Amino acid sequence: MESFDGLGLSGQLVEAIRQLGFEKPTPIQEKAIPVLLKGKVDLVGLAQTGTGKTAAFGLPLLQLVDESNRATQALIIAPTRELSVQITTDLERFSSPIMKLNIVTVYGGASISDQIKKIRRGAQIIVATPGRLMDLLSRKVVDLSAIQYVVLDEADEMLNMGFKEDIDEILSTTPKEKNVWLFSATMPREVREISKNYMHNPEEITMGERNQGNENIDHQFIVVDERDKYMALKRFVDYTPDIYGVIFCRTKIDTQKIAEHLIKDGYSADPLHGDLTQQQRDRVMRSFKNKSLQLLVATDVAARGIDVSNLTHVIHMNMPDEMEYYTHRSGRTARAGKKGISLAIISKREMGRIQQVERSIKRKFTRMNVPTGDEVCQNKLLALVHKVKQVEVNEDEIDSFLPEVYHELKDLTKEDIIKRFASIEFNRFLEYYRDARDLNKSDRSDRSSNFEGEGDRYSTSENADRVFINVGKMDGLEKGSLLDLVCDFGEVKKDAVGKIDLKGAYSFFEIDKKFTEQLLKGFEGIELRGRKVRLEMTQPHKDKYSEKKKERFYGSKSKSSADGGNSRGGSRSESRGGSRGESRGGDRGRSKRY
Ligand code: AMP
Repeated sequence: MESFDGLGLSGQLVEAIRQLGFEKPTPIQEKAIPVLLKGKVDLVGLAQTGTGKTAAFGLPLLQLVDESNRATQALIIAPTRELSVQITTDLERFSSPIMKLNIVTVYGGASISDQIKKIRRGAQIIVATPGRLMDLLSRKVVDLSAIQYVVLDEADEMLNMGFKEDIDEILSTTPKEKNVWLFSATMPREVREISKNYMHNPEEITMGERNQGNENIDHQFIVVDERDKYMALKRFVDYTPDIYGVIFCRTKIDTQKIAEHLIKDGYSADPLHGDLTQQQRDRVMRSFKNKSLQLLVATDVAARGIDVSNLTHVIHMNMPDEMEYYTHRSGRTARAGKKGISLAIISKREMGRIQQVERSIKRKFTRMNVPTGDEVCQNKLLALVHKVKQVEVNEDEIDSFLPEVYHELKDLTKEDIIKRFASIEFNRFLEYYRDARDLNKSDRSDRSSNFEGEGDRYSTSENADRVFINVGKMDGLEKGSLLDLVCDFGEVKKDAVGKIDLKGAYSFFEIDKKFTEQLLKGFEGIELRGRKVRLEMTQPHKDKYSEKKKERFYGSKSKSSADGGNSRGGSRSESRGGSRGESRGGDRGRSKRY
């Protein structure tokens, strides 16, 4: 539908929302508004967050309540304070230009006496969280006897949070003759029960398939070691300078810890969880909404109902236990037709969860690589250059300062100036990311490959050759980076490489026989940090001997590390700089950093 005309809303209301930039209805508004305007109807709306459901029920509600009747006619129940406030703000924005309604929000964690005063002044619509409403009902402050409309927003969330009894109690306190409008992102059995017990032949509106995620969310995941998760998070944040997102953690302790680490490491981040006072939470949410805070680290419960536009990312530090939580978390991004990324940082153990969620939301996840140190530096540099291009130059005011600046720089060429200027910001990152290791958890590193011999580590299967390579841990390599090295120069795919035995000054790896020749060719003339890389085929039964021989030549694992690699033929200078950072300068020719 092209506009709000024709849905049955009054011209005044259509004009009021047009002024707010609502030109055409979202799909749920298009479906729900005409149904709800019928007046006598119960409705179940299955819709994700961010689909425009507040206006879908809010606009008909505003049209149906009687402005001249002071009694409480409508009750909206929502799981959190944040969502209740958001709903009230929306209703006020829609209605204030054309009518004078008393809309009162009540929620826990704020002064109850202020809320009592407001209700006593007359509340035609009450927006409430279940707990505080129960409190007010028990104090007989709220009179629900004239209620005609009850809206249950994010019903599944309220049940997840343990409000089932409260909701039952509240609904049974309202008159029998009323309209119940229930909205939920998912439809578990408990939500079904509410609709059975309190609704009569409800109309059902489903946006997309049940529990299906928003189309505009790009679901991604990376696999790293559990202990590398924080580092992987930092890489992504560094790689995405304009990131504006929520980082979800499972527990309050994790939330606090991650936020503290990020703050300590100089990021714009703050935690949001239940152990904070309401004032602290308000402050955090205010700065997140006005974008003075870039990253909100939150628990599932605390982040419910957050409606912040334009979030670029939702990051999961682990997959949630409940399927619905994933939908709720990822639904914080890609709101109101925008696009967003939901990125799960997982360990191998959690990979099964990805498949379960894929099946449930009927969307595929894309496996991503953790950006390398170089990629982060490159992106940072580009972002800096972009900023320079975009910066507004105040010609008049800067003019008088420039002669001195030109004088200072007169001996430098344009290229020098660019290099130096970029280095001011860049050096910090370069230093941090110099020789940063590969954080990606290879599928192979701790799992037998297809063609790997089992049991005896010296035996190879018929399909694989075992290859000696004269580089190892002492060259700063890890299994992942050795795998990259082999794949890059050997021009083979990762799944052609089998078991990798990483030693101090050398290593062994298995290669699918089909590729052995091309691998050996590919490595011809290759240098790693100034040292010629040498590959040698080994035979299964010779291995024990040849390995022992090599150990004697190159030194055993412990010996070679104690030696600092001095025994490696002819490579004294780079091997003395045993650390990865120092050997970096040695790259040359076809060599590459690993
Ligand atoms: P909701 O699902 O109600 O939380 O709405 C998500 C966001 O979309 C809110 O920021 C609304 O203000 C916005 N929105 C809702 N309906 C429309 C519409 N028809 N046109 C433009 N924006 C809308």
